Amino acid sequence: MISQDKHSDRKPAILADPRWARIVARDKSADGLFWYTVDTTGIYCRPSCPSRGCNPRNVTIHDTLESARRTGFRPCKRCKPDGPAAEVAQAGMVTRACRLIETSETVPSLTELADALGVSPGHFHRIFKAHTGLTPRAYGAAYRTRRVREALAGETSVTEAIYDAGFNSSGRFYEASNAMLGMTPSRFRDGGAKEEIRFALGETMLGTILVASSARGVAAILLGDDPDALARDLQDRFPKAALIGADAAYEAVVASVVGFVEAPQMGLDLPLDVRGTAFQQRVWQALRDIPAGQTVSYSDVAARIGAPAATRAVAGACAANRLAIAIPCHRVVRNDGAISGYAWGVERKRKLLAREAAT
Ligand SMILES: [Zn+2]
Repeated sequence: MISQDKHSDRKPAILADPRWARIVARDKSADGLFWYTVDTTGIYCRPSCPSRGCNPRNVTIHDTLESARRTGFRPCKRCKPDGPAAEVAQAGMVTRACRLIETSETVPSLTELADALGVSPGHFHRIFKAHTGLTPRAYGAAYRTRRVREALAGETSVTEAIYDAGFNSSGRFYEASNAMLGMTPSRFRDGGAKEEIRFALGETMLGTILVASSARGVAAILLGDDPDALARDLQDRFPKAALIGADAAYEAVVASVVGFVEAPQMGLDLPLDVRGTAFQQRVWQALRDIPAGQTVSYSDVAARIGAPAATRAVAGACAANRLAIAIPCHRVVRNDGAISGYAWGVERKRKLLAREAAT
């Protein structure tokens, strides 16, 4: 009988790669961070592939989907490695990296961060830079500067709080920072009303995003190019609420929303706080019934809610939507199919629809 230990002194190098353990564990959180090819079957998989285990000797790990594809292998039919999980996983990884940097005494080295996240340093660096516009070291420095200023800032307006936190709307740091840069906990109050709305600003493929939640759920998802303008817009939409820059606990909500914005077809698994007149609510519900990849006209929506003459009012309800993409008003187009007005910019609407049509 041949001993199974025969080759134990010639273990393949992959066994020392922390990513191999994640493949063995079918770790879903590794999806989108790397891929692997299997020589014997000629396919490539995502780390969480449910197929039966494969011999590590036949496995090659790839940092990018492109690299896995270049082998000429076929995508696995079971785990569908070409799916949209990459953006979501990468946003999640960048979030975790930001938290690690923020909570460490000194800024961790690239290798320490990559090890903690279970990916290669080069790969981690590229993803972090792509999402934040900064190297991890620069992010750490910026974060610390911000904290100092935060300590000096008292109760102030949202716009001032943004500046107090070391952001400025023209600066690369702010433009490129992503959702995970939780805002300063500086508060401002308006009218002494009791309701608290938490919010954070971030960055997506569609530009800057502001996510805000009440105790009932996500109350606003606003898109734009200028963080200051978004913060003022939020202030206008909830004039009586106390707006509170999000704390660390809010990061999971923001990461979910950003993941959803990057890949709307995956759905948003969070409660929404939808506020509007009875008519607006009917329109918005009808919009939520339009699947990604489809468009309808304003008069279609009017017909669907049983008010065929109310095309104009439907357009008004679309314009009043404060939950971008979650209430997909971008899927409503003119009767002739032309892409018309969008509260968050026609270009953004065009981009959204093109992306949804392609998936
Ligand atoms: Zn697979």
